[in-house]
Amino acid sequence: MARAAGKTAVKPGDNVWVNVDVLMTHDVCGPGTIGVFKREFGQDAKVWDKNKIVIIPDHYIFTADSKSNRNVDILRDFVREQGLKYFYDVIDDPNGHWVFDAAKGPMKRQYGDSFAGVCHTALAAKGHTRPGEILLGTDSHTCMAGAFGEFATGIGNTDAGFVLGTGKLLLKVPETMRFRLEGKMQKGVMAKDIILHVIGDIGFDGATYRAMQFDGPGASSLNMDDRMTIANMAIEAGGKNGIFEPDQTTFDYVNERTKFNGTKTAYDPIFCDKDQRFFYDKTFDLTKLEPTVACHPNPGVRKLAKELGNIALDRAYIGSCTGGKSSDFFAFAQIVKGKKVKIDTFGVPATPEVIADLRAANVWQVLVDAGVQMSENPGCAACLGGPADTFGRMNKPMKCISATNRNFPGRMGHLESQVFLASPYTVAASALTGKITDPREYLS
Ligand code: SF4
Repeated sequence: MARAAGKTAVKPGDNVWVNVDVLMTHDVCGPGTIGVFKREFGQDAKVWDKNKIVIIPDHYIFTADSKSNRNVDILRDFVREQGLKYFYDVIDDPNGHWVFDAAKGPMKRQYGDSFAGVCHTALAAKGHTRPGEILLGTDSHTCMAGAFGEFATGIGNTDAGFVLGTGKLLLKVPETMRFRLEGKMQKGVMAKDIILHVIGDIGFDGATYRAMQFDGPGASSLNMDDRMTIANMAIEAGGKNGIFEPDQTTFDYVNERTKFNGTKTAYDPIFCDKDQRFFYDKTFDLTKLEPTVACHPNPGVRKLAKELGNIALDRAYIGSCTGGKSSDFFAFAQIVKGKKVKIDTFGVPATPEVIADLRAANVWQVLVDAGVQMSENPGCAACLGGPADTFGRMNKPMKCISATNRNFPGRMGHLESQVFLASPYTVAASALTGKITDPREYLS
């Protein structure tokens, strides 16, 4: 933040104007952001930098709701008017209109070659996440990009409208809470269990406006997918951002994506200060973690999966920026391979690349054979409910175990539904039994 503010140093509590490296918006908040920008800067105003804005429709996409379809058209019109470089449109015609074909349904592919899927996963996949940068997005889970050693946080439409016009934002430097990870996870335990355990420790508001720093040998041994899962959920504890110190694992991932997608390849990583001081400092022994569940009604209600065998489920769901990556589906498939799910189970890959990975490894067929309803349309889908025809949405009160990241009442549809957050392993094992199940019994 100091570097982005042109200062030699900053301290917690300082309010600084930072220069933004990337601003991301999507179909839900993009139209509002554009409205604020035009109202405040003028109908003919130009954005501050057409190469630093990334627009990713992903939320209410595969729905016949006409206003949702119209939102994507508003984004396209703005991109054309401003000459923006990075727009991952649902359709390939820059002058077209997006209309969802309800007759085809939400499971058959309905997107063009530009589409990139869920914004946070797509930002990483398309080379927009780089160490040492400031990434802001009109979405609370923008903190996921902290996995790459950058300051990434969600902002509202008003702030985003201001950034569109100026490329700057006034931010308060957060205090830092340190979560030092040691040891190796046991079989059956995943990165999702780490973050659910941490949030259970501090509560769903335990990190309000603080940076959550994950470090130690247990952090550096995690791959990028796992780091993304953890940083993504910093906001579920109220965190301003989540952050991992960048290392060779980070650089390898970023270099490959930036080279492949023609995005900016240069970056200047920032490493932890030697004399760093923390508002909170706790060490977690990963060897002691067990499959963990966040129970209704918030992500801080922590229980172990093995304690919840009495909870009968109606539905299982795997998908979202948190739980819809290739590695999530591979883990899920490990459990269900050769078996049949007992309850309605929905699978929504985060990006088209995930679908390609699953098909290439024949995991897609494994999932279909197990009875998982796999959608070929990557996106947010039922992670945040959405219009009534959204794939996997809970339209009546039911209990669902989900690999997503948020379970406040009404999050996945009906207000009286209950969502239990868990790892892909635990979701898979629970889908097989119809009740919350410790996955370790399915892993030889
Ligand atoms: S998948 Fe869910 S959490 Fe992620 S951006 Fe979409 S709605 Fe938000």
